Amino acid sequence: MPIVLKNQSEMQAMLKSCKISADALNVAEEVIRPGITTKAIDKAIHDYIVRCGAKPSFLGLYGFPASACISVNDVVIHGIPGSYRLQEGDIVSVDVGAYCDGFHGDNAYTFAVGKISAENEQLLRETQAALYKAIEQAVAGNRIGDISHAVEAHVSQFGYGIVRKFVGHGVGRALHEDPEVPNFGKAGHGPRLAEGMTIAIEPMITLKGDGVKTLPDGWTTKTASGKAAAHFEHTIAITSNGPQILTKRG
Ligand code: MG
Repeated sequence: MPIVLKNQSEMQAMLKSCKISADALNVAEEVIRPGITTKAIDKAIHDYIVRCGAKPSFLGLYGFPASACISVNDVVIHGIPGSYRLQEGDIVSVDVGAYCDGFHGDNAYTFAVGKISAENEQLLRETQAALYKAIEQAVAGNRIGDISHAVEAHVSQFGYGIVRKFVGHGVGRALHEDPEVPNFGKAGHGPRLAEGMTIAIEPMITLKGDGVKTLPDGWTTKTASGKAAAHFEHTIAITSNGPQILTKRG
């Protein structure tokens, strides 16, 4: 599929769905605490998005049964909200999108539940740092590989694993558009970035190893090593003024 460029008014519309997506993470952060179930977090997110007059992008997408993917500790992505109660020391990744006025937003954040281990604290910090290094490369004239390489170069310093099976993506009228945005790759390679492109950059980084396994539920994707994983994501636009983070949290 060709890469879909967005004009100014489409970009404005996307800002709205992206803001709701970002605010939904704030809602998650407000309710995350030891003892809450992941299902209750999902409900808070769902209710917020619907109150905004938007639709949760993930609900029913390819059959996904909830509004947010909520992934705890060694679950990398696509955790199904359920009866698990968060415990002090857990890390919990919340991935959520909202759809309104014809466009999707998409973002994710890994939260600490109370006090977490030093190694998990560093994993969260450096995965987020990798996301911002990647965003710096999202300028017209660069290539997707420049974004990919920025993530890989940053996290490799710490010996972390990079999930290769899942990648970032274009986002717009469809939640998943071209191009793919891998978290590994060669600078100077891949599709050329142009003004009007809107992409979700989303490093999925593990304490150890690149391998993942998906559980029989068809969704829950864990690290093969059993070690923790972090996931940070923004939807960004490539503009004449450089990268613009559309899912910036207020
Ligand atoms: Mg995404």
